[in-house]
Amino acid sequence: MQTQTFILWPWQSKSYLIESSLWNFIIDLWWEDFDELLNYIQKTNLEINWIIITHGHYDHILWLNKFVSLNNCKVFISSWDKDFLYDPSLNLSKFWWDGEFILDKWIEVQVLENGSKIWPFEVKFTPGHTRGSICLFDHENKNIFTGDTLFPNWEWRTDLPTGDDFLIVKSIFELSKYLKKWYKIFAGH
Ligand SMILES: [Zn+2]
Repeated sequence: MQTQTFILWPWQSKSYLIESSLWNFIIDLWWEDFDELLNYIQKTNLEINWIIITHGHYDHILWLNKFVSLNNCKVFISSWDKDFLYDPSLNLSKFWWDGEFILDKWIEVQVLENGSKIWPFEVKFTPGHTRGSICLFDHENKNIFTGDTLFPNWEWRTDLPTGDDFLIVKSIFELSKYLKKWYKIFAGH
């Protein structure tokens, strides 16, 4: 399994492209400087099987409409954040982006629950940044994709809609147990 990181400006949001012998998938999808990722996929003729979204903020989902129209694939998001995909106030595009993002209705979205398995990940709900934020645990390789549950330098953010101070502390406490077991963090920024 091979993981590549694409850092996408201006918020330094990260998209992760994971290639394996079984499936290829992307974790989170932002928009600017997207060409590098798209070029790589086209050059290598890579089939993307699915996209997993760690939470519904616009800087993790903005390229979904365009990407899925070019590379037909399924989109997965936690059941508690699914409505962010269709609500520009919740996904913040209404305030912080030049245009309102709403996921195209024809795109197939599947929801993840706490404890869902999506190879190679176990999904854990880690609410706090948003109500439906998830972390993706790859136990075999000891990797965790944390989205915005944890920012670099152990920072977090709860001042956005559905954010919750109490829940983020609880979620990060849960995460810290895995760090003691030497899991590696792949953050959303
Ligand atoms: Zn966020």
